[in-house]
Amino acid sequence: MRELEGQVAVVTGGSRGIGRAIACELSRAGASLAVVARSEDRARETVALLDGPGMALACDVADSGQCSELAATVQDQLGPIDVLVNNAGITRDNILIRLKDEDWEAVLETNLRGAFNTTRARARGMMKRRTGRIINISSVVGLTGNRGQANYAASKAGLIGFTKSVAQELAARGVLANVVAPGFIETEMTAGLPEEARDALFERIPLGRFGNPEDIAGAVRFLTGPAAAYITGQVLVVDGGMVM
Ligand code: NAP
Repeated sequence: MRELEGQVAVVTGGSRGIGRAIACELSRAGASLAVVARSEDRARETVALLDGPGMALACDVADSGQCSELAATVQDQLGPIDVLVNNAGITRDNILIRLKDEDWEAVLETNLRGAFNTTRARARGMMKRRTGRIINISSVVGLTGNRGQANYAASKAGLIGFTKSVAQELAARGVLANVVAPGFIETEMTAGLPEEARDALFERIPLGRFGNPEDIAGAVRFLTGPAAAYITGQVLVVDGGMVM
């Protein structure tokens, strides 16, 4: 089924990992894609993998001016935006007492302010057209916290509060906002984790495997489609049962 035929989707952080899988999945569902990352070259590599129309766009989501320009460019070139997936994210891990101001700021600016910048830039258009799906990619760490990730966990918990507020504000205009909270997914972000930490995490996953980007892409596709028309303000955890 190509349930997103004729729709336009924006995926931030679409140049690799989870974002690339989401872009490919929404393209298979029929959407035209705007693939966003700071590196336009790598975003282009994703566009080359799509099943249908798509464009690569360089944008730092932490910069509100760039996000406004991005919304206008997508609207001009692909049409009004139906689906926004805020997936761009970074980590700067350290224990609290060694966490530098710049590590705190960089993570909050990209992961939380980034979602605010892109959502605000597109909300008016979605409200006017009385349709839209906003999916924010948080993390199970936003629910549980994690040693060495106070900045990252705060940003991901913040995204949940942000999404629930947006869901309440926009519901009357037919715009739905939900969160997907991945567990441990094999991407460049998690590739550097030491062997013992990987083993310890593995032990906590009842389904007995690490997740892959396609596991998250499937959940996002569900939340953008007609089967999720009565779901808003929710957190869908996709983690092999790690956090229950
Ligand atoms: P990844 O492989 O490191 O990819 C991150 C993506 O975000 C890249 O496309 C990157 O492209 C983009 N990005 C980073 N900063 C950006 C900025 N300021 N503006 C625009 N784009 C930016 O990470 P991933 O593992 O796929 O993770 C994707 C999302 O899932 C993140 O929000 C992450 O926190 C979340 N998540 C991941 C896991 C996991 O286990 N992997 C678990 C829970 C949640 P550029 O560098 O070119 O900008």
